[in-house]
This record gives sequence, C-alpha cells and structure tokens, in this order.
Amino acid sequence: MRWLVDRALIKVLGTAQDAGHPQLNCQCSHCQAARTDASLKRLQSSLALIDKKEQKSFVFDASPAFSEQLDNLNELVRKKNYSVDHLSGILLSHAHLGHYLGLLYLGKEALNTSQLPVYLSQKMFDFLKNNAPWSDLFKNGNIKAEVFEFEKEYNLTKEIRFKAVEIKHRNEYADTAAFIVNTQEKAFFYLPDLDSWQGFERKFREILAEVDYVFLDGTFFDKKELGELRGRDLKEVPHPPIIETIKLFSDLNKAERSKIYFTHFNHTNRILDLDANKFEYVKSKHFNLLEEGQEFNL
Ligand SMILES: [Zn+2]
Ligand SMILES: [Zn+2]
Ligand SMILES: [Zn+2]
Repeated sequence: MRWLVDRALIKVLGTAQDAGHPQLNCQCSHCQAARTDASLKRLQSSLALIDKKEQKSFVFDASPAFSEQLDNLNELVRKKNYSVDHLSGILLSHAHLGHYLGLLYLGKEALNTSQLPVYLSQKMFDFLKNNAPWSDLFKNGNIKAEVFEFEKEYNLTKEIRFKAVEIKHRNEYADTAAFIVNTQEKAFFYLPDLDSWQGFERKFREILAEVDYVFLDGTFFDKKELGELRGRDLKEVPHPPIIETIKLFSDLNKAERSKIYFTHFNHTNRILDLDANKFEYVKSKHFNLLEEGQEFNL
C-alpha cells in the first residue's frame, strides 16, 4: 500500500546558466526580452528539496541569486505553513560562479547562519577552507562542512538519502558532483554541468532507469549558438547541446525520455526564442524544459 506518498517536494529555484538570464551587459534579443518581461527572467540553476514530515529544506547549489531564491522558497514555506526555520543544508556541485557564490550570503554581512551544514566533496572543502573570503564562513562558524565521498550514500533526513556522482567538467579549483536523491517513494538526479557524454553515457542510462526525474545540463540548444559566445573558443566550451542529447537518447522509450528535464539554459539558448518551435520540438521528442518555480512531488 502506497501510504507514504508525497513525502517530499522539489521546488525549482533557478534554471539559467551561471550568469543568469538576462545576462549582464548583453543586448541580445533574448536578454532584452527578459528585461522588459519579468516572466521571461531565469535565475541561476538551483533546486530546493523539502522534507514535508521533518519540515526541513535543502538547497542544491548556492547561486549568486541565493537571496531572491531564498525569498521564493520562503514564500512557498509560508503558503504550506511549514516551519519558518526550515533551511537545513546546502549541497554544492562545484566551484563555478553560478553554483557557490551565494555561500557568502550566509556570512556576517547577511544571514549570519550558525553551523549550517554544507555538503561538499573533500576537494571543494579544501578549496573553500584555504581561500578567503570562503574560509571566514568556517572560522566564524556560519557553516560546517559535511564532506561526502563520491558513490557513497548519506542521509539528509531520516527518510531522504543522497549520493554524489563525480562528473567530468572543467575543474580549475576542485571537482564536480551531481546528486542522486532518494526518498522512500521516488528519486531524482541533479546534473547541471557536464562536459560531454563521452565516458558517462552508460552510467547515465543506469541512473535514469532508477530515478523518476533528471534535471540535466541543457546549456545550449545546438552548436550554432556557440559561435555567438563572446570571445570564447568553441573547443573550450563544454556542455552537450540539447539537440545532441535528444538524438543520443532517442532509442529510449517515451516513459524514460519524459523523465528528463533540461535546465541551466545559457542566454543564447534557442529555447529562449519567443517563437515556440524549439519548445515544441523538445516536447515532440518527449523531453521537457524545466520552468522557474516548477514543483515536483517525491
Ligand atoms: Zn554552471
Ligand atoms: Zn543575451
Ligand atoms: Zn560549471
């Protein structure tokens, strides 16, 4: 008997690449549209996971928009009458702009949290504790490190567990994690940044078979837009384009494909075009595009 339904809730806090959408100082048609119509705005990639029973929330990645994202999470928490003291931890994927800058909001100048658990790899911990201003967060007791080993399972709450998977991604300062999260009923996989499918495709298929939702790197729609990146060499920009990922997994049945939600959209991404063609294309292939504020029951 499935009496333990909906034990947890995912709230999408952001779906944009590290610089957000609109991107600073960019006059492209996507960014201009997002400046004039707030409903087109997207914050940096982030998710909140709420354990309804324990009334605890966990945020995946501390983005530069953490302040606004926490407001959005608090609004949901108020609506559901959960405890106001819900923020119980942050899980960090890697040391790039969009994924850890928000940690600074936990310090003295802002939230001034006390021993908030931050789940991170050993390399990420070494990087943060040895470099100011991040090191101050540990010195001042704002956060405490909960160091995970890849491929090992840990409890976030009594009934929610996570496992970090190591991902190949340009790692200047530390390494990169993606997260598999399990409740007793359901599971999801959060993978915002990936260099390429090479060497990871098989493992991804195994993970996909075991989870209900995948939130996946959809930074670019196709390779054409890479030519529009300011001063960047095409070869040094990672991320498999949406169109290639769709082709690669076209052999999967509809139910499997429909578990996949693309996120982490760059401002150049064709799915941000105002004509609905790209959107319809993704839908017609039974994949999904993640929306700001979207909610999933677990
Ligand atoms: Zn990123
Ligand atoms: Zn732009
Ligand atoms: Zn990255």
